[in-house]
Amino acid sequence: MLHIAVFGNTKWSLLMKDILEKEYSDLLLQNGGEGIHVDNLVVLGTPQGENEISVREFAQLYASGKLISIVIPKEYYIHHNNLILALLRAGIDINDIYEGIRLSGEVRTNPERVAVLITPTLSDPYLSYLEFHVADHCNLNCKYCTHYSPLVTEPVFSDFERFCSDLQQLKKLIPDIGIIRILGGEPLLNPELGRFIAFTRKLYPASIITVVTNGLLIRQMSPDLIQLMKENMAFIHISFYPPLQETIGEIKRFLYEQEIPYTITEMTTKFSKTQTLTPHSDEDFFYGCFQASCTCLQDGKLAPCYAPFTTKYFNAAFSTKLPTDEGIDLYDDTLTFMRLKAELLLPMQRCRYCTSGDAYPWEIIGKHSVPEDWVVD
Ligand code: SF4
Ligand code: SF4
Repeated sequence: MLHIAVFGNTKWSLLMKDILEKEYSDLLLQNGGEGIHVDNLVVLGTPQGENEISVREFAQLYASGKLISIVIPKEYYIHHNNLILALLRAGIDINDIYEGIRLSGEVRTNPERVAVLITPTLSDPYLSYLEFHVADHCNLNCKYCTHYSPLVTEPVFSDFERFCSDLQQLKKLIPDIGIIRILGGEPLLNPELGRFIAFTRKLYPASIITVVTNGLLIRQMSPDLIQLMKENMAFIHISFYPPLQETIGEIKRFLYEQEIPYTITEMTTKFSKTQTLTPHSDEDFFYGCFQASCTCLQDGKLAPCYAPFTTKYFNAAFSTKLPTDEGIDLYDDTLTFMRLKAELLLPMQRCRYCTSGDAYPWEIIGKHSVPEDWVVD
């Protein structure tokens, strides 16, 4: 019997566990292999339920040979990459981390689907998460904005034709993506937002598409944009900052009346400074960075986060030379999806300039920004 773990403790994890132990095990046994038993469910927070264990406990059982692998159901779009990074940090071999197929009720009655139920993550041409900017500037200008939007002094919109070419290039390598988040800066500032949404949907019909906005312009969305969002099943995600406090009820009502599904964060009252000018060499920082799972597409490249693409604004404002020339070239003829996925799991030079800073009250930046608005030391 092969003893393994499954990530999470939702209906998706329990369905995956059930199919692995029944239909998938039957298939292995018919082909002369061993059956599977799912001993534990691995959770990122504190384990609570029966059979739940933490990543650290999983790593101990893995090191002792009691568990040989872990399966991550595809339905965990947001936590997926964070989990893989945490597993690597804990010493799990990447070849023992498996991805599930998209689950649905019919999977277990379809032998062809059961046969491909799980795949080692590097052999699966799938990304759980992708984000891209459609505007680098913003209409809110939060102090400590990690994307440096307050330092973008002129409107900077992503070029639509370039974006289409880049997404098509990515599609050749990665035909399926779990969630695609369109952001900035403030994405609703871009008058072509609808075109970006429609093209993304055309290439990735099964993905969740979300526009991440500070919400200030939601009630000014044009009827055309609203129609395009509905036709292309795009959602709104509101990052809730204090200036929205007075109008949030009306904004929610507007979205409800327009039949646009939305999610909303708790109100942000604190922001952390995460920038240092004194480089460190702690590779572990990357593996614990929650933004390291925010795979970002820009300028023909893919990177583990937005930083290689937005640091140019910080450098220009403060005459610094933080690394910017990073990211994986999607037009490199030798690039395979396996290499792309493997390289997204490696720290960048830019990571040496990130640190965990203290949290400060959220506020809008003054007229003239100073390095202390971002830098810890
Ligand atoms: S709303 Fe978001 S993008 Fe805009 S300045 Fe604030 S943190 Fe940056
Ligand atoms: S540059 Fe590296 S450490 Fe900094 S936010 Fe991006 S992934 Fe995290």
